[in-house]
Amino acid sequence: MSENKIPYKTYLDENEIPTKWYNMRADMKNKPAPLLNPGTLEPMTAEELAPVFCEELIAQELNNTDAYIDIPEEILDFYKMYRPSPLVRAYFLEKALDTPAKIYYKFEGNNTSGSHKLNSAIAQAYYAKKQGLKGVTTETGAGQWGTALSMACSYFGLDCKVYMVKVSYEQKPFRREVMRVYGADVTPSPSTTTEIGKRILEAHPGTTGSLGCAISEAVEVATHSEGYRYVLGSVLNQVLLHQSVIGLEAKAAFDKLGVKPDVIIGCAGGGSNLGGLIAPFMGEKLRGEADYRIIAVEPASCPSFTRGKFAYDFCDTGMVCPLAKMYTLGSGFIPSANHAGGLRYHGMSSTLSQLYHDGLMEAVSVEQTSVFAAAEQFARVEGILPAPESSHAIRAAIDEALKCKETGEEKTILFGLTGTGYFDMVAYQKYNDGEMSDYIPTDEDLEKGFAGLPKIDL
Ligand SMILES: *Cc1c(COP(=O)(O)O)cnc(C)c1O
Repeated sequence: MSENKIPYKTYLDENEIPTKWYNMRADMKNKPAPLLNPGTLEPMTAEELAPVFCEELIAQELNNTDAYIDIPEEILDFYKMYRPSPLVRAYFLEKALDTPAKIYYKFEGNNTSGSHKLNSAIAQAYYAKKQGLKGVTTETGAGQWGTALSMACSYFGLDCKVYMVKVSYEQKPFRREVMRVYGADVTPSPSTTTEIGKRILEAHPGTTGSLGCAISEAVEVATHSEGYRYVLGSVLNQVLLHQSVIGLEAKAAFDKLGVKPDVIIGCAGGGSNLGGLIAPFMGEKLRGEADYRIIAVEPASCPSFTRGKFAYDFCDTGMVCPLAKMYTLGSGFIPSANHAGGLRYHGMSSTLSQLYHDGLMEAVSVEQTSVFAAAEQFARVEGILPAPESSHAIRAAIDEALKCKETGEEKTILFGLTGTGYFDMVAYQKYNDGEMSDYIPTDEDLEKGFAGLPKIDL
């Protein structure tokens, strides 16, 4: 292992944590399409967004020009509790695969929330506090975002109301309790606490909920409660901006080692960890300074990039949010009930959607049994029990490494290991009992989702 002197783990020093986030949009020739007001179909202005989002976060959302944005001192202090995160050389996985490829992963599971989501949660809570708000509302699917936001809100003394997709609320009682430990108020969605929730329950009695529906509820509560705003843990430009800390640290660690990755792989739900991981590398690519292969990995059961349409769509089921242009399956799309692996949002970050549309990155979809097989193979040799979401990236990284074995190429592969899977043991149990199946929506299934796309002519 000492041959090439690359350590198993590379940590930056605390004072090497980036002090600025990097905004890819500044270097994009084709900017992501603006959010539109669903009523007027005109780009949303800061004033129109103000009742929903925090002021400073709106400024970040609309900022397509500043490449670097200072990370406030208070956020940097919090980052120091769990950052820098390690860049790990997966020697044991390489050996198990008998591949000439060199595999690295950036591990974001080293905090209580168990994922990268804390990087943005703490930033959003900070700006809410700075604005003098009482609290924030949000949705959570698998629960990682709600947990991260609960931690961030308790740190700044903000009230936190979480709408949790009902199926997760029931399947993951311990996730819910972690949020309550940090003082959050957790409601299963759809609920009868909102107008939109009542409407959805009427139309679909017995529904187990969806992210799009929980978003609608959280937005309704934020806009109807004084001193509250809505915050979102993925998809938005501001979230990708905060998550750039992942990629900036990874790039700095690689630079220290004198290594350059050839292939960069991340799982894609709404696109925030991937957008953050690739940020500085994509920046070099956009500026023509270097080239990287960048691969988004999504579930075959929720294939926004690989089978979705690039179109303006609603971000939520209740159609209360602005329209975003993105790769989407339609806001009414709900993945099959047997889908256990997370990443179930119908749309995708508009920034990543534009980059994908412009051929600057690729996407693949993988089936969930193969994802869990990769997760267990990884856990057994590298020790970390990965989140199902992260395991999509593991699957693709293993597949790339196995291709290298065939061709003899010594590629350097970087993937994002976004979090740990301790709260996903029901899904692991299904896999271990041989009860997990793969479901790939038919074209007909997808057509139903596409039929709900807003009929607008731009
Ligand atoms: C939320 C989450 C994801 C997916 O969200 P993105 O915004 O696409 O990054 C991936 N991994 C983990 C562990 C998560 O919690």
